[in-house]
Amino acid sequence: MISSIYQSSNTVLTPRVKQSFAACIEDGLALNDSPKFFFRADDIGAPSKNYSRMTALFLTYEIPLCLAVVPTWLTRKRWEAMDDFVKKGQDLFCWHMHGYRHMNYEVQGKNQEFGSIRSTTAVLNDISRGRERLQSILGEKFTPIFTPPWNRCSIETMQVLKEIGFKGISRSYGSMPNPPDGLEEFPVHVDLHTRKEKISEQGWQQLFKEITKGMQFSACGIMIHHMRMNEQAFIFFEYLLERLAVHKQIQIITFNDLI
Ligand SMILES: [Zn+2]
Repeated sequence: MISSIYQSSNTVLTPRVKQSFAACIEDGLALNDSPKFFFRADDIGAPSKNYSRMTALFLTYEIPLCLAVVPTWLTRKRWEAMDDFVKKGQDLFCWHMHGYRHMNYEVQGKNQEFGSIRSTTAVLNDISRGRERLQSILGEKFTPIFTPPWNRCSIETMQVLKEIGFKGISRSYGSMPNPPDGLEEFPVHVDLHTRKEKISEQGWQQLFKEITKGMQFSACGIMIHHMRMNEQAFIFFEYLLERLAVHKQIQIITFNDLI
């Protein structure tokens, strides 16, 4: 489903959106004059037009990106097909792990691949297999950070991650429970493409609030779902990248700069 903020027939951003965006960055800079951002793109592994278009923008603006790869979606053939993009990006990209199969196991409540319904053995098996698969395909490009599907997982999962050598986890800001000592947390503060507000104006206001608030933390995480992007989403997204790229006070990093 496309978020309400992108359900317009406009092919240009309205002056109001541009002004509100500029104001939210100014407000953020007033609270922190040297903010850092990172972008985290979820659901990576299968090729698509949106995937190519989204990643090409990072190359165009030379902006770093954390790519959350679903191990079972990525094949050696698909990785080889991305070779040109991977080489052009070089150190701009941080390839890390997004679940194992991106499948929900919960029978009630919110979707989770690694919720408390799974046994620790099942969790350990899936996470180990996923890591082995990514390490064998990506080689040294793999970074041992875990983004759980739907931004949530059990405390047992985080303990497994720590025990087998993962360095960090990325969930939504404010997610509970806290990770165990030794497993760093890199939260996302801004949701670009899975917003739930029904009214577009409210969606924009909330989005800009998230950006200003996120800028007060050590790094403001911005979450991307390329499969949910339509033309309007791409128009705003390119504007966002372009504005952040030219702002001298703003630094854009990846998880590799944080571990
Ligand atoms: Zn996902």
